[in-house]
Amino acid sequence: MTQYVFEPAPVATVAVAGAAARFPVRRILCVGRNYAEHAREMGGNPEREPPFFFTKPADAVVDSGVRIPYPALTKNLHHEIELVVAIGKGGADIAPADALSHVWGYGVGIDLTRRDLQDAAKKAARPWDWSKGFDRSAPCSPLVPAARVTQPLAGRIWLAVDGVVKQDGRLEDLIWPVPDIVAIASQGVELRPGDLIFTGTPAGVGPVPPGSLLTGGIDGIGTIDISIGGA
Ligand code: MN
Repeated sequence: MTQYVFEPAPVATVAVAGAAARFPVRRILCVGRNYAEHAREMGGNPEREPPFFFTKPADAVVDSGVRIPYPALTKNLHHEIELVVAIGKGGADIAPADALSHVWGYGVGIDLTRRDLQDAAKKAARPWDWSKGFDRSAPCSPLVPAARVTQPLAGRIWLAVDGVVKQDGRLEDLIWPVPDIVAIASQGVELRPGDLIFTGTPAGVGPVPPGSLLTGGIDGIGTIDISIGGA
């Protein structure tokens, strides 16, 4: 039995739809620019870029339905609604044909982004961590077990700010669909149970004003709502 110099931090978790048991989060991987229209709005070329990844700490996850403070250091917090893939079986160099057998379930996430810090980091060719991996930056809906989700994934993915729809895309428009994302991620790191993969956002990202309410959803998977505190 390992002894610690103080009590370790609790395991980060996210709710499971219709169940009391919670999903233990090991780490959070995120895909950049995985919808063509969003790649274009961010100044990229959707036809030529392979998927790339960044990460958030596991304890950046927060449940739907909570109020989170407006983050420090930013005057331009942005919303990015995303399909979340929850890994239940680990592996390295997973074949795309086997990838879905590694998926425990799916959720609706918001990749909160301090866009002003990200823009500055891009200009200076510095890491994105401070713009992406801050406290409470990864809200996620209750996860739905994969067995209850119809494949292939299809349908609407949307987000509204104070009831006004800002992002309205389709899962069919993912440049790299879930099997490819899981496979390619597993070429770079060994996936383990508890890993969450935020799979990228459709077009329409924009500011989250202090005091606003974010609502979003994905057909067949669920909905999320997060209220943002004042600045
Ligand atoms: Mn994102």
